[in-house]
Amino acid sequence: MSSAPVQPMLPFTRPSIDERTISDIAAVLRSGWITTGPKCQEFESALSMRFGGRPVRLVNSGTASLELALRLCGVGPGHEVITTPHSWIATANVVLSVGATPVFVDVDRRTRNIDLGLVEAAITPRTRALMPVDLAGLPVDRDHLYEIAQRHGLRVVEDAAQSFGSQWNGREVGSIGDLVSFSFHANKNLTTAEGGCLVLNTDEEAMRFEKLRLQGVTRLPDGGIEVENWGGKANLTDIAAAIGLGQLRHIDTFNARRRELARRYFERWDLSLGFELPPADLENRGNWHMFQPLLPQALAPRRGAFIESMKSLGIGVGVHYPAMHLFSLFRARGYARGDFPVAEDIGARTVTMPLFPAMTEADVDRVCAAVTCAISALNRIKRKSAC
Ligand SMILES: *Cc1c(COP(=O)(O)O)cnc(C)c1O
Repeated sequence: MSSAPVQPMLPFTRPSIDERTISDIAAVLRSGWITTGPKCQEFESALSMRFGGRPVRLVNSGTASLELALRLCGVGPGHEVITTPHSWIATANVVLSVGATPVFVDVDRRTRNIDLGLVEAAITPRTRALMPVDLAGLPVDRDHLYEIAQRHGLRVVEDAAQSFGSQWNGREVGSIGDLVSFSFHANKNLTTAEGGCLVLNTDEEAMRFEKLRLQGVTRLPDGGIEVENWGGKANLTDIAAAIGLGQLRHIDTFNARRRELARRYFERWDLSLGFELPPADLENRGNWHMFQPLLPQALAPRRGAFIESMKSLGIGVGVHYPAMHLFSLFRARGYARGDFPVAEDIGARTVTMPLFPAMTEADVDRVCAAVTCAISALNRIKRKSAC
């Protein structure tokens, strides 16, 4: 009897950090200056160049970037921010952090992003901002978004945590729009381990943001400081910025590779299994931050068993994301099942398959074969092939 070689576990994502970046990190550690300094400045300039010269400021997380962006817009108690229920919980938490109320609007079944056709009905005299999310990196329709924002005089805080390198009408997310927030969390397409940045409109805005980022401090010419307003503690370290600079050298290659791997999924996925695949994005707008099929309706209640089965076959599967309004935090604020049927349906069936630049075509094929095995097992179909 021959035993098949044991294949290593394939996680749903894994960062790619090259040796040059690792030496750059070591150089920062040896330099004696390890917190915010020259590497952060270099990274901010490089990002600003990428975004057509717009001011960019680094922070220590995407969450901090969003929260401080809302504060910058003067959003606070008594105000409402319109957002999607289908996102990482940070998107809604930051609205609560500033004392405002998140107002959810259901998502579009095809794009899985906020349904812009439903946004205007949710606008009230208390609405101050729109906070859309580019889920899995697929950009929200920027033309429609800004048409609504302009008509109602609203600020936009783009939660572009997942869409670094995505494009709208041939222009990169971040180079257009109002405030644009990115995350550099370990799982994002461009990482600094933890970190984020905000793209702003003017130098004046950037200066106010710097104060919000670091204790409200203004440095005076005589070496003293003045503090007029509250500020938090959200500056990035030079260690993190060195990682970011290393990532920036590869991000376009990374994203191109993700697109190739996504294409491979579309080619190899067995459509007879009854999954709904994500939008194919034939215009190459997105950055393929994630590849997320939806389980067949009948198997939705058995998602946990599917994930376990995939794990036993050596494949890591994630869930991004359950509908946020169904968390106790928001049920306690009056939301209930049935409020956003599309987000609830997608949230109950979504599964995130492995997709990261270091994967091979053979890895994609292995995932597709494992999915077929796992679904057969759930349906108790005996298969001849080795599963
Ligand atoms: C990752 C993420 C965030 C938060 O970013 P952190 O860097 O983890 O704070 C916010 N919104 C979305 C959509 C995200 O994916």
